[in-house]
Amino acid sequence: MLALLDSSHLQSVAFSHLPNIRYFSGFTGSNGVLLLTPTRAILFTDPRYELQAGQETDVTVKIIRGSLWPEVAKTVQRFRLKTLALEDELLSYAEYRRVSSLVGKQVRLHDASGLAEALRAVKDEGEIAAIRASMKLCGDAYLKTLKKIHTGMSETDVAAELEYRMRRMGADGPSFETIVAAGERSALPHARPTGAKIRTDQLLLIDMGASLGGYASDMTRVVHIGKASPKAKSLYNSVLEAQLAALDAVRPGAKCAEIDAAARKSLRRHGFDKFFQHSTGHGLGLEIHEGPRVGRKVADEIVENMVITIEPGAYLPGFGGVRIEDTVLVTAGGAEILTRVPKELMVLEA
Ligand code: ZN
Ligand code: ZN
Repeated sequence: MLALLDSSHLQSVAFSHLPNIRYFSGFTGSNGVLLLTPTRAILFTDPRYELQAGQETDVTVKIIRGSLWPEVAKTVQRFRLKTLALEDELLSYAEYRRVSSLVGKQVRLHDASGLAEALRAVKDEGEIAAIRASMKLCGDAYLKTLKKIHTGMSETDVAAELEYRMRRMGADGPSFETIVAAGERSALPHARPTGAKIRTDQLLLIDMGASLGGYASDMTRVVHIGKASPKAKSLYNSVLEAQLAALDAVRPGAKCAEIDAAARKSLRRHGFDKFFQHSTGHGLGLEIHEGPRVGRKVADEIVENMVITIEPGAYLPGFGGVRIEDTVLVTAGGAEILTRVPKELMVLEA
């Protein structure tokens, strides 16, 4: 962990973003600052977490009553550090000003934004195993719930059932608010489930994920309730084709923009590209959305052991939308799909 300071040419860093603190120290509490100095890593937290911090982390733990930053600042001064890097992009303006005045003029502030995130984008073996397990749980909960879906159930009924299943299977909880969108509402890429009832002759979009051992999973599937119309089938198959094209473009060295372009180019052949307004994918891990962003104009390169989603979609106002999302591991040979649920259009008997 301290090697990070050498490689980043920083003298000290105070991490305050909780997923970053968890990544480096193992601590999962809701309040903390992790200070890295040339010789020590110190976790500052409050008395609620005294026992937990002792169990979860190997770094030195300092239990502080009240605000943590004055103690962090005192430590910086006691160690006679000349510079301190903060996560500027994740601190509030008020916090930043506070830290700045606490450390005083002798300590220059630097920006450590993105430092932890760049490391987190590439997963180690343990993290890959954790995401695999999370994806398995997510897929199992989906397939179990699918058997129970029937017309007359509401979108929220289905979302509740999915989340209940994930919890029963050992998930910490959903990794984000489960999306269940029936019929026309499936054309809203981020639809919140409502009391709307599932009817026959509709698309039903489910975007879900679990958090298991802190690691997220993410998957979208669309089923059809009752026999699918030619329009629904052609929409579905076009998105599937685009998804396969994007998956095919995943390999170490590929630019994020190239993978995104593969999906858009494929959709353009069917005239659906203008109905695809979001990015093709994103990294995931301790957070549901992490780097890299697989989107237009993103020059970042994909490297081995990144875990990213591939999720193109097409959303037709007044009709419905289709998005197909797999989570994949980037291997030397390309994308290894971690989502364990079939992708052909499934028809549920009404
Ligand atoms: Zn998703
Ligand atoms: Zn996603």
